[in-house]
Amino acid sequence: MAGIVPDAPPSNLRLKLDGDALAHNWRTLDAMSGQAQTGAAVKADAYGTGVNFAVPVLHGEGCRHFFVAHWGEAAGVMAHVPAEQVYVLHGPTSAAEADYARQAGTMPVINSVPQAKLWAGAGGGPCALMLDSGMNRLGIAAADVSDPVIASLDVRVFMSHLASADENGTQSADQREIYERTLGHFPGAVHSLANSAGIALGPDYNYGLTRPGLSLYGGIARPEHAGKIRQVVHPQAQVLQVRHIAAGERVGYNGEFTASTAMTVATVCIGYADGFLRSWAGAGYLHHAGKRLQLLGKVSMDMVVVDISSAPGITAGDWLDVPYHLPTASRVTGLSQYELLTLLGNRFDRHSA
Ligand SMILES: *Cc1c(COP(=O)(O)O)cnc(C)c1O
Repeated sequence: MAGIVPDAPPSNLRLKLDGDALAHNWRTLDAMSGQAQTGAAVKADAYGTGVNFAVPVLHGEGCRHFFVAHWGEAAGVMAHVPAEQVYVLHGPTSAAEADYARQAGTMPVINSVPQAKLWAGAGGGPCALMLDSGMNRLGIAAADVSDPVIASLDVRVFMSHLASADENGTQSADQREIYERTLGHFPGAVHSLANSAGIALGPDYNYGLTRPGLSLYGGIARPEHAGKIRQVVHPQAQVLQVRHIAAGERVGYNGEFTASTAMTVATVCIGYADGFLRSWAGAGYLHHAGKRLQLLGKVSMDMVVVDISSAPGITAGDWLDVPYHLPTASRVTGLSQYELLTLLGNRFDRHSA
């Protein structure tokens, strides 16, 4: 079809991203990390906030170690920081990925003897090495540290990952003990064990480099972070329609909500396709000028209906706030704080302030 397609109007969904809060959170975690350097997990598009928002802020604060999961995520980070500051946690799973790492200059995280061989086959060079200290997810076994292929790697960062640092059980101490026993094999490498929650376990867990993710973006994995970590992500959605319903009328799919009295309701343009899952229904609510607006019935793909009887001034076009204080939202929905962040979809306009 001929003709010029005009620019799309702004979205009716927006994600306000607080860059000052992100910077504050990194500085807070850096202070809690003591003498250790503080890196940043920026996988999954910086936990849904956007690499283009988060990486420049973190680099500006002094962060020099950025962790992604997939090879396809590296380029977006390298657009903002030198390649050797970008670590790919999944490691090379094919010769093509090992070649890519060599050519791009990114740091592969080697997780197995076969990965070490792929890296050597591509020419090798500086890399990170992951030890599996009991999570049974990724990493070499403790017995592999003396494997000749592993021993020949140029390991710059030797790391392991804690499975339960957000809990008070014994697993973190057990993992630390296994990690500790292998450290002597990599005396020239920077040592790194703690994620966000691990940083709160105290100086024994900091080593030379910490790797927070969740808490940078406002997540509170342990009580030690409460009151210190600020909310970064503030989703908002616009009202599409307001209507008055009578007692006995039903709302939404399957008529799950039935009005017991006459009420005023607003249809708001956020739904499960935006990461606002059906688990918000029930105890969930939206906010307007500090007022709580109860969700009514099921969450649709693109919409939700709320009770505005207590705020009858609300009209189509008004912006409502999605309460995204992560520990609270997690309690309300049963979703983890990680899921709440990474679910947020691409129909939001992301605004950084
Ligand atoms: C995701 C990840 C982190 C960050 O963990 P948080 O719990 O989000 O702080 C650190 N290290 C590794 C290896 C990871 O996969």
